[in-house]
Amino acid sequence: MVTSQSQSQNENLNLNSNLKSAEKGKLYIVGIGPGSVEHLTVRARDVLLASDYVIGNGTYLDQIETLLTGQEVIRSSMGREVDRARRAVELAGHSRVSIISGGDANIYGMAGLVMEIAENTGLKVDIEVVPGVTAISAAASILGAPIVTDFAVISLSDLLTPWEVIEKRLLAASDADFVVALYNPKSRQRNSNFAKAIGILREHKNGSVPVGLVKNALRGSGEDVIVTTLGEVLEYDDWVDMRTTVLIGNNESRIWDADDIKRIITPRGYQRKYDY
Ligand code: SAH
Repeated sequence: MVTSQSQSQNENLNLNSNLKSAEKGKLYIVGIGPGSVEHLTVRARDVLLASDYVIGNGTYLDQIETLLTGQEVIRSSMGREVDRARRAVELAGHSRVSIISGGDANIYGMAGLVMEIAENTGLKVDIEVVPGVTAISAAASILGAPIVTDFAVISLSDLLTPWEVIEKRLLAASDADFVVALYNPKSRQRNSNFAKAIGILREHKNGSVPVGLVKNALRGSGEDVIVTTLGEVLEYDDWVDMRTTVLIGNNESRIWDADDIKRIITPRGYQRKYDY
């Protein structure tokens, strides 16, 4: 009798402590910005510091390592995203967990996969997505004002999206004269996608349209920039790599060449209304 009583007491205790820890558990999906601690949002920094676990791939963890002192860090590699997301969802049942993405977690980041896995597992997890400064914002800030109006963002990675779909989107975006940002322009396996994409964009855009190539934008080191045109950009094909964001203007964009600094300006349309 005594045993069964204490057993049921223990069960109650376990139940209570599970409930308590479930209340405490939380999953943050954190965009850490372009890659330097000073471009983290205040919210991102706060949740990272308050986390028991921080999970991410090595490249992104390295970018915030100076912040991570008391947290348990779980490193994972590229291509292990499903395992990483599942681990984060499980741990968040009882702990505060941050799973990190470069830039913004909604822009080719971990938010989608984590949400899908949380939905499929049926585990009750409290989730907060913390937005971050995405690569297009970082790259645009270095180029000046290349966007300012309607734009389309297209990833050239055909690992998860068929190339035919990417081609269709490139054609539609250039036909509608969007400013176009290209993410994932190159990788070791996909060396020719960038040149193919430029060929497609040229079908509708003029060769004189400005193009900005920005490498390691706002990362603190390795930042580099080239301003050129759609007609000439393939001269820099070898320069473009997986750390580069490409910004292609619309037919009104222009290059402002002043004091050895080339910038790109895309007019918002004020000139049609005001004299300045
Ligand atoms: N979630 C990220 C994008 C991940 S896709 C974000 O919101 O920024 C990875 C691609 O993003 C890279 O191939 C590159 O095209 C771009 N990128 C990410 N960080 C960058 C940086 N600091 N400078 C230039 N391009 C960057």
